[in-house]
Amino acid sequence: MFPKNLADGYRLWRDEKLPQEKGRLAQLAALGQAPQALIIGCCDSRVSPETIFSSGPGELFVLRNVANVVPPFRPDGKHHGTSAAIEFAVAGLAVPHIVVMGHSQCGGIRAHLNANTDTAGDFIGPWMSLISGAKEDALARNPNLKGKALETAVEEAAIRLSIKNLRTFPEIESREKDGILTISGAHLNISNGDLRVLDDATGEFVSPAAA
Ligand SMILES: [Zn+2]
Repeated sequence: MFPKNLADGYRLWRDEKLPQEKGRLAQLAALGQAPQALIIGCCDSRVSPETIFSSGPGELFVLRNVANVVPPFRPDGKHHGTSAAIEFAVAGLAVPHIVVMGHSQCGGIRAHLNANTDTAGDFIGPWMSLISGAKEDALARNPNLKGKALETAVEEAAIRLSIKNLRTFPEIESREKDGILTISGAHLNISNGDLRVLDDATGEFVSPAAA
C-alpha cells in the first residue's frame, strides 16, 4: 500500500502548490530543463537543497548520495551512479555551477570516522573509503581537533576531497579552465540552518558574504 502520509502530502501539493507551478512545469516539459546548478548533497533527510535554496522545478539538478561524495574519474565499465549523474549534468545539460554541499551530524562521515562496522554494510564501507585521507587532512590543518570539532573538520575535508575528485573529470577540468563552469563547496549546520561556503584561497569554510 502506498504510504498514507505521502499520499496526503501529494494531495496537499496538488491542491495548493501545483496551481501556481502548472505553467512553469508545462514550459519545462515542452522545452526541457536547463538547471542553474548541479548540487551534490547528502541523502540525509534533514538536508534538502531545494528547500534551503528556495528553488522551484527546473532550477537545480540535485544529486544526493551517502555523505555527498564524488569518486575520482574512473571509466572502468562498472556501475557508477554518481559519475553518470555528474556526466549528464555537465556534458548533457551544461550546468554553469557545481556545488558540493556537506552538512553537520553526517552519519556517513561519522561511520567512516568511527570505522563503525554496524553501519559499514555491504556498500557503505567501500563507498566511504573514497574519503580516506579526509581525517588526515583535517588533522594536518589542526592537530588538536577531537570530538565534535574533528567531525566538522572531517565533513569539511571530505567536501574539499570531492571537489578535487570533480576536477579529475576531463570535461569538468576543461569547462572550468574555459570559464564556463564554477565549482563551490558548502557546509550546512542542520541544527541552526547556518550555511558556510568554501573559501578557495584558504580552504576554510566561511559565511557566504566573506567568501
Ligand atoms: Zn550526511
